[in-house]
Amino acid sequence: MIRHGERLILVDTGFSPQEAERRGRTMLIHPVEALRQLGISASSITDVVITHLHYDHAGNLADFPEALFHLQDREMAYGTGRCMCHDRLRRPFAVDAVVDAVRLTFSGRVCFHDGNGEIMEGLTIHLVGGHSRGLQVVRLDDGNDVVVIASDALHFQRFL
Ligand SMILES: [Zn+2]
Ligand SMILES: [Zn+2]
Repeated sequence: MIRHGERLILVDTGFSPQEAERRGRTMLIHPVEALRQLGISASSITDVVITHLHYDHAGNLADFPEALFHLQDREMAYGTGRCMCHDRLRRPFAVDAVVDAVRLTFSGRVCFHDGNGEIMEGLTIHLVGGHSRGLQVVRLDDGNDVVVIASDALHFQRFL
């Protein structure tokens, strides 16, 4: 979660209780509840960056009623296209999460990006791909420090 002036930006939305059940995973805390415990209501989130559409990053999208969702063109194309005909490629995706992303698109609430982009001053997204075709990471530069939220590209980190 990033606070930037009036805006509250969430990076990824975790997995849904239904998907946890389906995959035999224990949900320790629902992301909306985790935010609530921080004093943040889901409806106060203004922006959600979806790093990629894998089930553990893009569940619960419908729980953020006021948010604009930032997603890469090629991630949506990948998650709704021919590659999903292959079991192995489809496995990390949840159809409900992908369908939610499509519904949000039809509600005009998805801001698509084609490659690197700036969401607001000091907050940029960077297309990495690889792990999923349109995987993006988030970079926050407040003028003093730089923080990168690397999502599932963390293994590319170079220790200096
Ligand atoms: Zn992933
Ligand atoms: Zn992941």
